Amino acid sequence: MEGEVEEGDALTLPRRIGAALLAAALLYAGGVSPASAAGTPSGERSASVSGIHAWTNEIYTRVAVYTGDEVSWRADTVQADPDRGLPPRIFIDIRGAGIQKDILHNPIDVHNGLLRQVRAGRYSKDTVRVVVDLERQSTFRVFALPNPYRIIIDIDGEGMIPVPRAGTENAASSPHDSAGASAPGVPSDPVERPRRLRVRVMVDPGHGGKDPGAIGPTGLQEKDVVLAIGRMVRDKLARNEDYDVRMTRDSDVYIPLEERTAMANRSRADIFVSLHINASRNRRANGISTYVLSRGASNREDLELAARENGVPVAKLKGIKFIIDDMFTGARKNESLRLAKTVNDAIYRNISTRYSGHQNLGLKQAPFFVLVGARMTAVLVESSFISNSREEAHLRDPAYLERIADGVVEAVRYYGQNGILARSDL
Ligand SMILES: [Zn+2]
Repeated sequence: MEGEVEEGDALTLPRRIGAALLAAALLYAGGVSPASAAGTPSGERSASVSGIHAWTNEIYTRVAVYTGDEVSWRADTVQADPDRGLPPRIFIDIRGAGIQKDILHNPIDVHNGLLRQVRAGRYSKDTVRVVVDLERQSTFRVFALPNPYRIIIDIDGEGMIPVPRAGTENAASSPHDSAGASAPGVPSDPVERPRRLRVRVMVDPGHGGKDPGAIGPTGLQEKDVVLAIGRMVRDKLARNEDYDVRMTRDSDVYIPLEERTAMANRSRADIFVSLHINASRNRRANGISTYVLSRGASNREDLELAARENGVPVAKLKGIKFIIDDMFTGARKNESLRLAKTVNDAIYRNISTRYSGHQNLGLKQAPFFVLVGARMTAVLVESSFISNSREEAHLRDPAYLERIADGVVEAVRYYGQNGILARSDL
């Protein structure tokens, strides 16, 4: 046996690792067919554990295990074994996959009070085991995203004790961690206003780098438009010191969807706004819509949109059975619906006072990967259709983009004043 995966794990598997943990251990194998779940000959497989990344603070960690091809897997827990000096563990058994040597011998050290490390090894001839060594009792959930296939483990510390905003934010082993770069330079809250919280907003310009997003008839790229809008939103919001604004990207770089969500969670954002521009095969389609996360889409257009934004074929997205549990999203769903409607109406109002012919397509719901696992009020804005020649021309006009940005800013301010800031003024 290679790696540091102890043989006893499977033999001594207990029924519970602590009531709270097991009760909340919701395991999903998205997209795994019964055939593959039953096990297939490993010789046919080219899947290999090619990367493990972790994004973390002291009450939250997201671990992503990249396997390239789709694999069958199962997740479970093991209780602490003080006699052997072993902490409670979460493990994922991945069948029919190889593992790259550098991962085998390089556990990711986290040591954030929530989890100790993430390590991987060959558990048996055709099974790779990824083990998360916890430092304290936690709740977690596991799900998979396709294209490329990755297994995501979201781990929450118990109790959710509020910690000071200036708390440390650690990133472990992330090759493109722009959030990490923002952490050291971010000032903590001013000491002269200790009783008042700031609203932390994570602005997420979609796509970037190798992913241009949707492309208009004359070649305008979604990634450039949403970055321009995102910068406007940040600059406008940041004029008010009640708002601490961060961006998932402030340049033309590629960031995986699961990392964007992790950046928002890790920085304890109150609001997550993902910015996109719509597109349709119907070149006349136009208008503004804002989405919140749901298991499925209500119509074909929304399903196609979500598939495109997720970077997966429609058929694949339809096959994924997301279980979006109340524990993580229930409390925030209503808030997200409220913000989404406010954002959408504000953008529409700002645009239609100056430009004619735009539709308010309204508040919608669809399964966007970038919203899965977001712990805060989270919306995804589709402001205009880049596939529509007229709207594409508008999207080249900074004054038009400013109207969109103003809508987002107004809505976020309204939400902040009536929610977070109002509560912290007590
Ligand atoms: Zn997009």
